[in-house]
Amino acid sequence: MKKLMVGNWKMNKNGKECTEYLEAFVAKYSGRREAWIAPQALYVKLVINSPLKAGIQNCSEHVEGAYTGEISPRTFKEMGGHFVILGHSERRQYFTENSRNLNPKISTALNEGLTVIYCVGETLKERDQGLTLSLIEDQLHQGLNDQSKATVENLIIAYEPVWAIGTGKTASPLQAQEVHGFIRSILTAKFPAFGHQTRILYGGSVKPDNVEELLAQKDIDGGLVGGASLKARDFLALCGDM
Ligand code: PEP
Repeated sequence: MKKLMVGNWKMNKNGKECTEYLEAFVAKYSGRREAWIAPQALYVKLVINSPLKAGIQNCSEHVEGAYTGEISPRTFKEMGGHFVILGHSERRQYFTENSRNLNPKISTALNEGLTVIYCVGETLKERDQGLTLSLIEDQLHQGLNDQSKATVENLIIAYEPVWAIGTGKTASPLQAQEVHGFIRSILTAKFPAFGHQTRILYGGSVKPDNVEELLAQKDIDGGLVGGASLKARDFLALCGDM
């Protein structure tokens, strides 16, 4: 499988900026690495209409009904959407998400045919207390418990140390590989048919000048990128195209 770079634009970019970015990106994109984008949900159609795969940054655990303000994974799939990022640390921090209440969202998204990028990661305090691996293990078990619809195509894990997100501090390639290797061992035990091939992305201040050494690690299959995905030039560089 090709390496995969996923841009999480968070709540950034207006319609004009999205259009200009996509034009600039597509003009130079070779396809050497896969490139997926999750813009603000209101502009997702612009990405759906481009050659890139389109994602949302959250979705409901329900497919329809009286859930004011929610985004239906079924509707998104019908529109041509491809993936959903679930469990991002900002969702966990500001919107009361946790691995237990993410479990049904993951199930619904998988049932509806979306690819789920499930984010896990520790805070600096947890790392300093030596809790990183046990915390990641809990996040994986709780979020992925009973996910019978998961396959190698529709489940992706993103390891995102919270202390590295938007801070400019990146986990060293060896720090990241240690956790990715651990995640790989859990996935292999949990999903014997495909866990050894499940894509595991690294996220946390990935930039053009550190991406290659991260991607050179055995169990790093790509990146989930915030800040550096906002400039077409930088995201092209992350995709190996500059
Ligand atoms: C993210 O928000 O998922 C992220 C990794 O952000 P950044 O690349 O800016 O650290």
